[in-house]
Amino acid sequence: MDKDFKDNTYVGEDGLRYCSLCHTKREHRLPNPIFGKEYKLHVMCDCERAAYEKEQAERKAREFDEMVSRNRMVCFHEKKMYGWIFDKDDGSVPAMAKAKAYVEHWDEVKAKSIGLMFFGGVGTGKTFIAACIANALLDQGKKVLMKDFTEISNISVFDSDEYVRSLSEYDLLILDDLGAERTSEFAMQNVFNVVNRRWESGKPLIVTTNKDAEELRKTTDLAEKRIYDRILAMCTPIFVDGFSKRKDIVKNNYDSLKTIFERGNQ
Ligand SMILES: [Zn+2]
Repeated sequence: MDKDFKDNTYVGEDGLRYCSLCHTKREHRLPNPIFGKEYKLHVMCDCERAAYEKEQAERKAREFDEMVSRNRMVCFHEKKMYGWIFDKDDGSVPAMAKAKAYVEHWDEVKAKSIGLMFFGGVGTGKTFIAACIANALLDQGKKVLMKDFTEISNISVFDSDEYVRSLSEYDLLILDDLGAERTSEFAMQNVFNVVNRRWESGKPLIVTTNKDAEELRKTTDLAEKRIYDRILAMCTPIFVDGFSKRKDIVKNNYDSLKTIFERGNQ
């Protein structure tokens, strides 16, 4: 230690060691009140401090990345969803703009507990949009959990209470595919418990569903009604029209194929 600290130093006019690179002090004088004799204490010169701060910042960044990776593994049950991010959006679905705005205004969203309900037909990209929101918030260090309604409707009686309570820890809860869950009394009770707990926690919820908002409002089934009423109270419905997206992809593929064939014929 002593040797290291004396490397690349020189003794200045004040008798203290200085760094020969940045010319700031490597020593500090301390009076010794007991023996009346002063002694010298090693201090970091500017370049040592800069190196130390850089190392600290890198360590913090590494720890943050590790936390984000852990949170992402908890959030999704399928690895392919790790890659569902806004950057990959082709701009053809207007609901995506709303999803981006949701993330951009997250502090307000959180404070006001604003939820969303993405609804639209099968294959329109509702799950994709919800996962994009999840990934963007995970990147910011937020805790997000994405589950299927089928999954939460199947919680065993034994795990139910603890599981439902654990869901309050997440900054955002996303429940995918409302309407696909079983409709047994037990399953509906589980779904209600989860949705109701979220309501009580005052934290935002995002739901995706093939049903439309009118369909949810008009249900006459009592078990469904109390779930849907909560969801409609918490989540702003956003229609997802993915048809144009698919059509565009097909068209783009067709255009690329056409280009390839035409090139081949030259
Ligand atoms: Zn230095």
